[in-house]
Amino acid sequence: MDFKAQTGLLGLTKDELRALCKELKLPAFKGDILFGWLQQGVVDYNAMTNLSRKDREQLAALYPLSLPQVIKEQVSKDGTTAKLLLDYGADNYDNPQRVQIELVIMLYNRRESRSRHTLCISTQAGCAMGCAFCATGLSGLHRNLTAGEIVAQVLTGKLWLNRHGLGEVTNLVYMGMGEPFANYQQVMQSLRIINHPDGLNLGQRRVTVSTCGLVPEIKRFADEAAEFGLAISLHAPNDELRSRLMPINRRYGLADLMAACDYYTAKTNRRISYEYALLQGVNDGKEQAQALAELLGGKLAHVNLIPVNFVEETGFLPSPAETLNEFAAILNSRGIETTVREKRGSDIDGACGQLRRNHNR
Ligand code: SAH
Ligand code: SF4
Repeated sequence: MDFKAQTGLLGLTKDELRALCKELKLPAFKGDILFGWLQQGVVDYNAMTNLSRKDREQLAALYPLSLPQVIKEQVSKDGTTAKLLLDYGADNYDNPQRVQIELVIMLYNRRESRSRHTLCISTQAGCAMGCAFCATGLSGLHRNLTAGEIVAQVLTGKLWLNRHGLGEVTNLVYMGMGEPFANYQQVMQSLRIINHPDGLNLGQRRVTVSTCGLVPEIKRFADEAAEFGLAISLHAPNDELRSRLMPINRRYGLADLMAACDYYTAKTNRRISYEYALLQGVNDGKEQAQALAELLGGKLAHVNLIPVNFVEETGFLPSPAETLNEFAAILNSRGIETTVREKRGSDIDGACGQLRRNHNR
């Protein structure tokens, strides 16, 4: 078998690494040392110089380690977005399809403040949710990523930024390929790891998870007693249209979804971001803006309007700027805080909904 990323240890929390060391008859503090190295993106045991040679050899024999390979790298013309194609290798001979995902890095260099670099993280290879406008769903779900594979992705992004002299990852959005809440446990485990102060230390308020609306998991997420941000892919203000665009709405309708959102807000007191991609002539009318204002009125909400990104196979067109501005104006006039998401990275198909795992089109 050729290359296969070995990310198992990256999926363990600091406490779990301590426990593992104890099992190996090593002092627990060596788990702390290991966690420190791993979370800096060091996966070569030889470089872990404050572990003895014997420890390093034992660990290397039991737990081989490697990050995914970056097999393609693109930077948008305006220099604001990079997209890396990551290859984790194939799982085994019986399942020879390679696990490949796209990692998007959004670079913000505001002169007046320090730079902000946001990674857009994938949680599944493919997606089973089948939203009508999205490229990721087109070829279905290959498989869930493990927590180790998700953390390896963050580390790959971190090393890329470091290598280009751009500093550190400051923010994460779980808005890449896949539905995070369809892979709940591994996603939650990855969040705990990247949040740890002795590791990447990405604060909960700097991490946002986006879902198409899996109601039980939204509630579970609210119950985690954490402050990770939540974004909801809404895209329609009524059940009839939403069910047409997003099959998940046939399982959990808008009333259930909004109740789960209220529960999250009550538990966390955090504002939810609602993503709304404007599809020309489909969901961008004035009456739909009014209906959306009705739906979100009185809630701790922020609407992100996105001109839909072009995906050849879906046939949807982005609404013209005028329509977009009118839509935003209606929401703002009704007291719903709204921003028009700046379009970035579309020349490298690195924008929302353009990520796919099949590159041999
Ligand atoms: N599965 C999760 C997270 C990944 S999708 C979710 O659906 O929320 C990330 C975001 O891109 C979602 O808000 C999704 O609705 C949006 N999106 C999908 N296809 C798009 C497209 N063609 N143009 C603009 N946004 C799109
Ligand atoms: Fe999956 Fe999100 Fe795309 Fe829907 S929008 S198909 S949930 S990745």
